Amino acid sequence: MGDGAFDSGAVLAALARYPPLPARGARVAVVGGFVRDIWLGRDPRELDLVVEGDAAALARTLGGEVVIHEPFGTATATGAGWRVDVAMARSERYPAPGALPQVAPATIEHDLARRDFTVNAIAVTLVGGELLAADGALDDLSRGALSVLHERSFVDDPTRLLRLARYAERLGFAVEPRTASLAARASVATLSGARLGGELRLALTEPDPVAVLGRLADKLPLAIDRSLAEDALALAPPESDRAMLLLGVMSSEEAWLANLELTTREHEVAIACLRAGVPAEVTPSALWRAWRGVPIEAVAVAGARGGGDAARRWIDDLRHVRLEIGGDELIAAGISEGPQIGRRLERTLAAKLDGELTGGREAELAYALRGES
Ligand code: ATP
Repeated sequence: MGDGAFDSGAVLAALARYPPLPARGARVAVVGGFVRDIWLGRDPRELDLVVEGDAAALARTLGGEVVIHEPFGTATATGAGWRVDVAMARSERYPAPGALPQVAPATIEHDLARRDFTVNAIAVTLVGGELLAADGALDDLSRGALSVLHERSFVDDPTRLLRLARYAERLGFAVEPRTASLAARASVATLSGARLGGELRLALTEPDPVAVLGRLADKLPLAIDRSLAEDALALAPPESDRAMLLLGVMSSEEAWLANLELTTREHEVAIACLRAGVPAEVTPSALWRAWRGVPIEAVAVAGARGGGDAARRWIDDLRHVRLEIGGDELIAAGISEGPQIGRRLERTLAAKLDGELTGGREAELAYALRGES
C-alpha cells in the first residue's frame, strides 16, 4: 500500500491475532501507529485503541491481565503473545509549555486533533471500519512526510521533538518544511528531567539510535560519534544495557545525565560510559584493579576509546577469573578474621591473573598464607 485509497479492511483484518474486540457499546477505533504501519505495509509494533468512554472497562472485556492508569484515562491488557493499550478519547490543554496536559473526555475526532503528527492522527472504527483522519494525514502517509497538526505543537510538548527524530529515522520520512522550521525554533528546556529521560529511553531503543540522537544534537548536550558508538557496542557483551551505553558515550555533560531521573543503575552505567578511559597499565591484575566493579558497558567504551585489546581480554576472560579458595580456608588454616583475609585473597587473585600461580587450589592456599607484604 502507500498510495491509492485507504484500505480500512486491511486494518481490521490485522486484528485477527488479538482477542475478539467489542462489536457493540461505546465507539472504539484502532488508532495511531497500528493504522499507519498497516498502511505502510510494515509490521505494527503495538495495538492502540481509543474509546469514547471508559478505557478500563474496555480493557477488561479483552481478557488477559489489565493494568489501569487511572489519572491518564488509559489501561493496558496483556495476554499470551499480545498487548493492547486502550485510551479514553480526550481533548488536551497544556497549562504550561512542557507540562503534562489536562485532559477531558472528547470524541475520537477531537482526540485525533491533539496528536503529534498527521501520520499518527488516523483511526479506523471497529464497527463499520470507518476511516477517521486529521487533515492532510493521508497525503502525508502517501508521500512520507511528518507534519505537526498546529503551530504550538512543539511548544506545548517538546517530547515531540524526540518523537519527530524517531519517526524520521525509523520510517525514513521527510520532515515537512513548516514542521522543520517549528522544530528548529523549539527547545526541550521546559521538559522535566523525568519526561526527557523517558523519551530518550524510547529513542535509544530505535533500530538506529545513533542516527536518532544525531538528529537531536543541536537540542541536547550530545557529541555524536558513530564509529565510537559502534565500536563500543561491538565490544559490549550481550547482557549490556545498550541504551545506557549509547547515552553515556554520546553525552557531554554529567550534570545533564544526572537530571534525567534515570534509575540508579542506568545512571551509574551512563556516567561510567561518559567517563570511561583507557587504563594506564594493562597487565591483567592492573585491569582488575581498574575495572572490577566498573559496569561492563564502560569497559566496552574504554575499549572503543583505544583500549580495545585490554577490554576484549577483560570482557571475554579476565572478569570471569575466580579463586578456588575463599576466606573460610584461610580461617581454617589459622588466619584470624578481619580485613587481612580480603587483602590476602586479593593479592592471590592478582597473582593468579598475572599467571604467577599454577597448580590450582593448593598453590592458591600456599600463596595466600604467605606473610603479608
Ligand atoms: P510506535 O509504537 O510505532 O512508536 P505509536 O504511534 O504507536 O508508534 P505510541 O508512543 O505508542 O506511538 O503512541 C501512540 C499514539 O499516541 C501515537 O500514534 C500518537 O498519535 C499519540 N501520541 C503519543 N505521544 C504523543 C505526544 N507526545 N503528543 C501527541 N500525541 C502523542
